[in-house]
Amino acid sequence: MLRVGLTGGLGSGKSTAAALFAAHGAYVLSSDEIGRALMEPGQAVFAAIAAHFGAGVVGTDGRLDRKALARIAFEDGRVEELNAIVHPAVIAREAELAEEIFARDPAAVLLVESALIFETKHGDGWRERFDKVILLRASERVKIARFVARASGGTQLSTQAQTALDAEAQRRLANQIDDDRKAGLCDYVLTNDGTLAQLAKQVDALWPELAQTAKI
Ligand code: ADP
Repeated sequence: MLRVGLTGGLGSGKSTAAALFAAHGAYVLSSDEIGRALMEPGQAVFAAIAAHFGAGVVGTDGRLDRKALARIAFEDGRVEELNAIVHPAVIAREAELAEEIFARDPAAVLLVESALIFETKHGDGWRERFDKVILLRASERVKIARFVARASGGTQLSTQAQTALDAEAQRRLANQIDDDRKAGLCDYVLTNDGTLAQLAKQVDALWPELAQTAKI
């Protein structure tokens, strides 16, 4: 078995790379998706967030109002309070799912996709959670352009909306450790500034080593 962390800034292409690894046979967990599932009504994380931040973060549909929550977390500087609730729960759930996967397939390569591997101080240290960590690098310009393109869903945005999304991307990136520092902590670095084919080539080259290590 091999537990691999796949990290990179927003828009660096983590999900894209994860899908390429999955095509080779890797198991993939997305920390974002797990976090979202844990924030659904009925979950302990949902209750903890509502209790901590108040009824203002619950929408009329009974679910978390993610915009209101993001406003409080980022604009009021309370993101660490939110992380302290969400991160340990996500990490615990990932450990549970990892155990299930390795019980079924002892030679599994499990990739855990997460923008914040080094940034979070909750749960066990990242070195205990991962045997290897892969960094996906892309220039800030490329990351912001991808974030804006994805958020706009292919529609033509007004200049104002475009500027707001740009600012949002920059604010989020400012909360993340820069790629040069991360690269020093990672076992492998993939660069995703070019085409999809160029990324796929790097994934293809790395896969045999991961699969082999997982068998040892
Ligand atoms: P992350 O998971 O790191 O936020 P994604 O994998 O979702 O990033 O990629 C962000 C956006 O950029 C997606 O719309 C994706 O399809 C696109 N993208 C990623 N890598 C490339 C690439 N090499 N060429 C073109 N588009 C890409």
